This record gives sequence, C-alpha cells and structure tokens, in this order.
Amino acid sequence: MQFIDLQEQQSVVKEQLMANIAGVLAHGKYINGPEVAKLEQTLAGYVGTKFALGCASGTDALLMSLMAHGITKGDAIFTTPFTFIATAEVISLLGATPVFVDIHPDTFNMDTEKLIQSIEKVIKNGEYKPKGIIPVDIFGQPADYDEINDIAGRYNLFVLEDAAQSFGARYKGRRAGSLTHAAATSFFPAKPLGCYGDGGMVFTDDEEFYDRLVSIRIHGKGRDKYDNVRIGLNGRLDTMQAAVLLAKFTVFENELKKRQIAAEYYSDALNSICRCPYVKEHNVSAWAQYSIMHEKRDKIAESLKAKNIPTAIYYPKPLHLQQAFSYLGYRKGDFKVSEQVSERIISLPMHPYLKSEVQNEISDAVRQALS
Ligand SMILES: *Cc1c(COP(=O)(O)O)cnc(C)c1O
Repeated sequence: MQFIDLQEQQSVVKEQLMANIAGVLAHGKYINGPEVAKLEQTLAGYVGTKFALGCASGTDALLMSLMAHGITKGDAIFTTPFTFIATAEVISLLGATPVFVDIHPDTFNMDTEKLIQSIEKVIKNGEYKPKGIIPVDIFGQPADYDEINDIAGRYNLFVLEDAAQSFGARYKGRRAGSLTHAAATSFFPAKPLGCYGDGGMVFTDDEEFYDRLVSIRIHGKGRDKYDNVRIGLNGRLDTMQAAVLLAKFTVFENELKKRQIAAEYYSDALNSICRCPYVKEHNVSAWAQYSIMHEKRDKIAESLKAKNIPTAIYYPKPLHLQQAFSYLGYRKGDFKVSEQVSERIISLPMHPYLKSEVQNEISDAVRQALS
C-alpha cells in the first residue's frame, strides 16, 4: 500500500504526459521554455490572480516573495510553529526573525486572537519591526483570511499565504493562492498538484511585486541577465517540470473531487473513535493530508505498520522546539496547542486513487489498534 499513490495517477495521465515530455525534448528549450509561461498563465487563471511566477521549489517561492518585500535583519515575520520548516527557515535565511503564533485547536491554522497579541508584544518590545504574516494552510485547509487581512491592514503588514499544501482549496468560494497580497505554493511530488522533481509558484495581483520577482528569479536581472540590479538567485522552474504539471493539471479538478470523497469516507468510518479533521463550512480543503488525532497515536502507527499500512506524522516537533531555532529562545510550553497536536496527530494514506476497500482496511486497523 502507498501513502500517496503516484503510479496510479501516472497511468491516468500517461498519454498526455509522454506527449508533453516529448514536446520539450523536441524543442530543447530546457530553461524558460514555452511550457513555463503556459503553465503560469493556466494556473493564474485557475487560481484567479493576474500573475503567476514559476519557481524552483515552494521554499524558493516563499524566499523570493520575502526578498521582493525587502525583508532583512531587524524585521519580524509572524507565522505558526506547526508547519514544515521551510515556512520559517526563509525568514531566518534573510536575517529576519520568525515570531511564532500558536494554532487554533480546531483547524491547526494560525489563531488570529493570538496573532494580535503577538504583534502587540513585538511592537511594545521594540526590538524588531513587524513587517509581515505568513499564514499556513495546513493539510490543505485555508487559514482565516478575512480576519488575517484585516489585522494586517490595521498594523500595516503584508500577508504571504503559504499555500504549499492547499493548491486547489477554496475559502468562501475563492481559490487558495488568491486570498491575500501574494501566495506561495509547492509542486513537490507529494503535494496536491505535484511534478516529478522540485517546483513551486508565486501568485499575486500586484504588478510591481511581480516585476521584482521576475528579476529576483534570474539573479536580480535588469534589462537582461548580465545587467544585475539587485541580489537575486537562480529560482527558475524547469521546462520539463512545467510540461509534467500541464499534463497532471488536466485531471486535477477531478482528483480534488476524489480526495473530497475519500476524506468523507474516512470521517464516516472514524468519527466515533478518534478526532477527524474539522473543515470550516466556508472552506473546501485540498486534502494534502488526512490527519486524525488520538492520545494513542504511537500505538496506531505501530499497529498499522505491522499490517504494512503506511502512516506519517506531520509534525512530530513544532518549530519553536527545533534545534535550528534554539537561538530564538523559545521553550517547551510556549505554544501549547502546537505541542499537544504534535503529540497526537497522525496522517493516514490519502490520494485521489484510494479505493473504499482499502480505506475499510485502514479504518479497521485503526479501530483494532484502539480496541
Ligand atoms: C512542502 C512545504 C513547503 C516547501 O515546499 P518545497 O517545494 O518542498 O520547497 C513550504 N511550506 C509548507 C507548509 C509545505 O508543506
């Protein structure tokens, strides 16, 4: 059994995939080939933003966005400790300071009340200048953007949506990626829309911001790549990966529906024995993960492993307790909700091609582990 079955998906898109790859091999434009622009146009249209910029990874999409905002030493960026390290790592890379805000126990997304408290505290302390917020759409569910955008407006901060897990999700009818000033997504193979390597994208309506990103993506280019007007990096999306994504995107909408059905099927089977994912009424999750909570999480993992059912723990250690961030001076107990969720969360196999018989087998195994 696969945790995420990419082989099954490949067989569904095989013909288009092979045609697209053959197309790239034929024209040979491996860097900045026409597939990149076509993908950017297609996905900007899908998400509902004016601009989309292909990047080498989701991490680069976040990093380049912060660079385009001019983030540097002395700046404070607010995010949650219950996320993949990339979200906060890019803040530190630029010399700025990640300020963690605990998550809401229902959705595991940023707690907006605590966000306000945290911003006030940083202002009062005066050591760092609050500049921006990176909410994470954890497991595929958008954060509370109306509240977050409102708070950002009050304190004059930018918002950068970490949509690495939520491509395809909806918030009040609008797609993840279009919910705030800019968004970064990832095409890592295991994400809802994944390529066959690394890839990412930034979405925005802000033309000046987009122009800066175009420059940053190619070593801070000005008129051309040998005219360098700022410090940038090599942050391009490969043409080959764009070709793969164009093929996979043809079945993406259908896959989202299948994920939704699989998630509901799990919840019906497991609701009475563990805490199943809570998705707000105005949200549609992209179901990057289907994660349940139970005090006997380790027992579930062990028991399923013995039956060759793969599980995963996202995330076993919140970021404020990671050695890499020890210099920030946080301690155990600082973000209690994140800590508690890290101790109880476990993710079950989730992908569009999950059959109900397999889900029955998984649910039965969870039930047996807890009996
Ligand atoms: C995967 C992920 C990233 C990083 O994306 P990469 O493409 O692996 O660099 C950033 N943030 C979150 C929340 C992620 O899940």
